[in-house]
Amino acid sequence: MLEAVTHWHRSAWDSLWTARRQGRLHHALLLTGPRGVGKSVFARALSQSLLCREPDEQGQACGHCSTCSLFLAGTHPDFRWLQPLEEGKTIRIDQVRELVRYVYISRQYEVGSKVVVVEPADRMTVESANALLKTLEEPAPFTHLILISDAPARLPATIRSRCQAVPLQMPERSVALAWLKAQLPDCPEDQWVRALDLVGGAPLVAMQRVQQGGLDYSTRLLDDLQTLALGKGNPVQIAAQWRKDLGCARVLDWLGRWLADLIRYLGAGGGSCAPRFTGEAVKNLPMLSERLDLKGLYGYWDYVRDAIRLADSAVNDELMLEGVLVGWCRLFHERKN
Ligand SMILES: [Zn+2]
Repeated sequence: MLEAVTHWHRSAWDSLWTARRQGRLHHALLLTGPRGVGKSVFARALSQSLLCREPDEQGQACGHCSTCSLFLAGTHPDFRWLQPLEEGKTIRIDQVRELVRYVYISRQYEVGSKVVVVEPADRMTVESANALLKTLEEPAPFTHLILISDAPARLPATIRSRCQAVPLQMPERSVALAWLKAQLPDCPEDQWVRALDLVGGAPLVAMQRVQQGGLDYSTRLLDDLQTLALGKGNPVQIAAQWRKDLGCARVLDWLGRWLADLIRYLGAGGGSCAPRFTGEAVKNLPMLSERLDLKGLYGYWDYVRDAIRLADSAVNDELMLEGVLVGWCRLFHERKN
């Protein structure tokens, strides 16, 4: 699993390993890259490797030494993984203060390092980030800090400037597809193609979707959008249902990418351009393109992208999703008048 996931991050891995062998590995790393690219898996592999007594010549942890055993059992005393206490919430200052105390107490094992991962680092409050600064400015000996973020711009510049950025890239589509097929050989290829389309090419998210059986929601979202475009259905009710069944962030993420395809389709005069989405996602395009104009759609896309940016911090995501669907209806309503 580890080998498979990190192979498209090989060059990032190799340069860290080279730096480590030469004794110049930065004490604080900031792993960045799109959601689902494999940052957490990379951080975990790196942590285990840093703690391992006998990593192999590529820097991979051996998997069977005493520290690897503790790591794999989730009981290694020199390893911490800091996350928000609840999903979607912030990392609180008391959590960071506790972590900082932990960093400065001596490690349990004389061989190896102490490793601390913060994920997602951009969910630290300003106060939390300030509390962490001390460990970045005055690194504790033998301690590695690994911050993970798919939105590094949200981190304070003081944090970013004290870390070495390690950008992790999305794999080529063929690489992602080959990897997915190797993970679950019984799953038909068109399922993986569809899953990758839906999640913008991120292999780990695609796998999660297929495993959770969550592929069919795109059909439903498209049907609902078509219903609203035809002046039927109630946007407020549909928004409430979407939020309940799928969650605001997932819906907005899908909608943002689907609108980009729709704009490309309209921009190419329809038909001639092959949208990234396949199958179900294409079926409503001709009907919609008859009723939409590009300028209005651009304005609406901006609106949706703003909503995506706010989705994490929105106090009321129900209202936001309602606004998005009311805006969608308005596109067709204003066109008619
Ligand atoms: Zn080991």
